[in-house]
Amino acid sequence: MSILKVARIAHPVLRSPAKPVPRSAFKNPLFQKLVDDMRETMYEYEGVGLAAPQVHESLRLAVIEVGGHDGRAKAEVPFMVLVNPVITPLGEETVTGWEGCLSIPDLRGIVPRLARLKLEALDRHGKPYALEADGFFARVIQHECDHLDGGVYLDRMQGMRSLTFIKEFEDHIHHDEE
Ligand SMILES: [Zn+2]
Repeated sequence: MSILKVARIAHPVLRSPAKPVPRSAFKNPLFQKLVDDMRETMYEYEGVGLAAPQVHESLRLAVIEVGGHDGRAKAEVPFMVLVNPVITPLGEETVTGWEGCLSIPDLRGIVPRLARLKLEALDRHGKPYALEADGFFARVIQHECDHLDGGVYLDRMQGMRSLTFIKEFEDHIHHDEE
């Protein structure tokens, strides 16, 4: 497995709508290697999700895992692969929360997101699945799916006043919230 180079904003691949993964991809060892490499890359940079455009592949593919990377705690969301995902809102409620992105290093900001959603996608072998998500899990799904449409979380912020460097977040904001 390899650690892949992560595209940063202003690279055109992050602003282009990604192409659907074709049925023929699932049996292709290169596609399976891409999924494994994306998993390694997500772990390496301690992300909770990674979309294929972030590693210079314009495909509707993302990986997610929340918690459990270090093996100490059970994963909150076990490793999952989203191929050609489709989000359907469940209700109109939105919630705000902090987000960061490996393609926008060192920054965080407050982003409104759907509180609940239904996700329909294919797994890494092309098998369809559907699930309902809320809370941080729903937030991560929406963040990764935005990448597949050429979006980043900055586009969703209601203003830039909450934008912060991670160091200043730890110094000034994180402690206030505890
Ligand atoms: Zn991101």
